[in-house]
Amino acid sequence: MLTQNPSLVMTIWGAATSDAETLKSAVLHAAVHAWYEGHIEAHTVNGQPAIGDASKLTSSLPSPPFPPPDSEELGEILAEVEDRYDDDVVMGAIAHAAGMAWAAGFRTGEKCRGCSWRGTDPELAAEMRSGRMTLMLVEDEPEQPKKPRRRQRSKR
Ligand SMILES: [Zn+2]
Repeated sequence: MLTQNPSLVMTIWGAATSDAETLKSAVLHAAVHAWYEGHIEAHTVNGQPAIGDASKLTSSLPSPPFPPPDSEELGEILAEVEDRYDDDVVMGAIAHAAGMAWAAGFRTGEKCRGCSWRGTDPELAAEMRSGRMTLMLVEDEPEQPKKPRRRQRSKR
């Protein structure tokens, strides 16, 4: 299966450039969001209707599509990464956690009969996941190119 969905890469980058103050919290960020992306990808590739009633949500990280807070599998992923990586191997630890969690999330998505949360801008997120949109990995907001000034035409 080939996918152009850049969401896993974006998730890794998002965790690496997040405000997380410790590697542990950056790894948690990566794992939770990659899990979510894997779950959504399963819905996408299997063509399942996935969107329920988002107004009934009681959490900003509803499960599914996010992992349950007490997920044993998520705990095992975090423990494995903590065990394998020193604190100075940031990208390796984040990427490892994200890959494992993405796969776990994908498995939950294959069994899911419908879930609601697709982010605060689901249409933009779907477009980003489609791989048809140009995305740039930057740490800060890129400076907006200045629009060329229009010369005022004098009215005659
Ligand atoms: Zn789902």
